[in-house]
Amino acid sequence: MSVSPNPVLLLDLDRTLFDTDRYTAALLGALAPQIGVSAEILIAEVPGQYVASSHGGGSYYDMIRHLQAYGASFDDIKRCVAELPNDYLFPDAASLLNALRASRREAQLLTHGEHKAQSLKLAVCQPLGHMAAHITLQPKGLYIANKWPNSGGMIVDDKDIADIPEGWTGVRINRSASASVEELIGRMSFQIASLDYVLPLFDRLYTES
Ligand SMILES: [Mg+2]
Repeated sequence: MSVSPNPVLLLDLDRTLFDTDRYTAALLGALAPQIGVSAEILIAEVPGQYVASSHGGGSYYDMIRHLQAYGASFDDIKRCVAELPNDYLFPDAASLLNALRASRREAQLLTHGEHKAQSLKLAVCQPLGHMAAHITLQPKGLYIANKWPNSGGMIVDDKDIADIPEGWTGVRINRSASASVEELIGRMSFQIASLDYVLPLFDRLYTES
């Protein structure tokens, strides 16, 4: 593995740091009475509301389009999000953010989706407010290659990253997996059970000689 002098740590948002399913259910549940449809119907419609990315980055749930079809404006949705609690980060995400802060290190967000919808999620993640956030509809491997052509680093995501550039390591969060950091180190790709593994792995791969 090639080691970069300034390795970048990238974190995915949806289902990595952010409990997307719980947020979506809460938002649809809060908006349902305003648009006169049951929350159960809205939630059941979600799988049919995925659209293909216009930039090749895979499909995503187009929440704004889904709700606008029922007459909700973006401002209606935004007002509803503003009423939601600030508690959609997974517990291990909150721990990772604390560990980053305590060690004065930086991570950046790399999230796939439509800009307005992703910005609404960030609005209910106050602890992420200080982090640089990259929102893209491109494939993440391509985005990384273009954005950090001379760096290596690690990306933590709940999906495998296709075409990950040379010098980068993909780490997949799968909260039902289990292996110790020692078991993980010898592998070429990683699947971790908790974000608690992120900084120890990053240090072993990129900062310890
Ligand atoms: Mg994700």
